[in-house]
Amino acid sequence: MKEIILIKNGELALKGLNRSNFEDILIKNMKRRLNGLGSFTVRKAQSAIYVEPEDESFDFEEALSRVSLIFGIAAFSRACVCKKDMTDILEKSVEYLKPSMENIKTFKVEAKRADKGFPLTSPQICAELGGVLLKSFPHLSVDVHNPDKTVFVEIRDYAAYVRAEQLQGAGGLPVGTAGTASILISGGIDSPVAAWMMAKRGLRLNAIHFASPPYTSPRAEQKVKTLLSKVARYSGCINLAIVPFTEIQDMIAENCPEDYFTLIMRRMMMRISEKIAGNSGGLALITGESLGQVASQTLPALVTTDSVVNLPVLRPLIGMDKEEIVRISRNIDTFETSILPYEDCCTVFTPKHPKTRPTLEQCEKAESGLDVDGLIEKAISETRYTYID
Ligand code: ATP
Ligand code: MG
Repeated sequence: MKEIILIKNGELALKGLNRSNFEDILIKNMKRRLNGLGSFTVRKAQSAIYVEPEDESFDFEEALSRVSLIFGIAAFSRACVCKKDMTDILEKSVEYLKPSMENIKTFKVEAKRADKGFPLTSPQICAELGGVLLKSFPHLSVDVHNPDKTVFVEIRDYAAYVRAEQLQGAGGLPVGTAGTASILISGGIDSPVAAWMMAKRGLRLNAIHFASPPYTSPRAEQKVKTLLSKVARYSGCINLAIVPFTEIQDMIAENCPEDYFTLIMRRMMMRISEKIAGNSGGLALITGESLGQVASQTLPALVTTDSVVNLPVLRPLIGMDKEEIVRISRNIDTFETSILPYEDCCTVFTPKHPKTRPTLEQCEKAESGLDVDGLIEKAISETRYTYID
């Protein structure tokens, strides 16, 4: 008996002429993400995608769990492949459904024919299979309104498929269909969630992290890598740039008024990030900022950070409460890592009274003692790159 994963792609159905291109990107992503699990093929036909193992060695359970995290998939199910022949469908269904029929009392059958040439109509298929299942599992009865389990039969182009209910997929759009952007990633709760949200809308991610050794420890850097590897289960591989930020922070501390430390630091981060993102074809920057959450995230403060870059800054959490953000971070399994207590470069030089209503003019004056271009150039030349998957 041959079992496959049958995939229904989500919003793809809405995308008109782009659809085929989107499906191709989704299939490429799927192949990459299932790599290493054994031999398999992925192909599309009739608005579905099929993952078909080529031999017994394929790790089916792991494949299912990976598929459940791939953006662009609305729903998926495991399904048994039958010949387009009623005898074969009946025989295989009994064997395939046996384990899942043991602990239930009621069921119904639903049939769908994409191939209208099949000799039986949908109601006839339901009646025949229902009858055989009742005979094979005498403890069961049919309940068409509220069954414990629904068995689906799909007659498609090349084969018939028998399956149980679909499982919910990760939704969103295939990563790569919206271009590439760079997430500014700290070790906190917010930025990994922001990364996940934008990957869900089809962006391929690069990441940029500012590290300030010895103020920040190697463990803080490792934490960022762990967070990114959790995001990568959804987004696919992520290129990470680790930017040395110690000298910049020291220069800010020596040469700028204390109440502007955080803002100037953020302006430096944005300038450097724009350059690094641009070097790898990035179309936008992403941050985990949420309006009013801290002093540097008031609207006037965000205006002063945005004003130093030309790339759009995407802030998917801007209108979200901390509670909602935490809920997502638990769901995507980044929360427990995010709350590990390793210091971030932002927490090292936190001013006692940060500016909440800065003007651009004040900001520019406050950073006038810095060699902005020189510091940026040096930081970029000393940036290290690694690859997270
Ligand atoms: P997070 O939980 O993501 O750390 P936060 O609420 O603590 O966010 P800030 O520390 O003010 O907020 O940082 C705001 C945003 O700036 C972060 O969401 C992140 O996108 C970026 N950021 C902060 N620190 C760093 C860093 N060390 N490296 C890269 N980006 C950073
Ligand atoms: Mg932070």
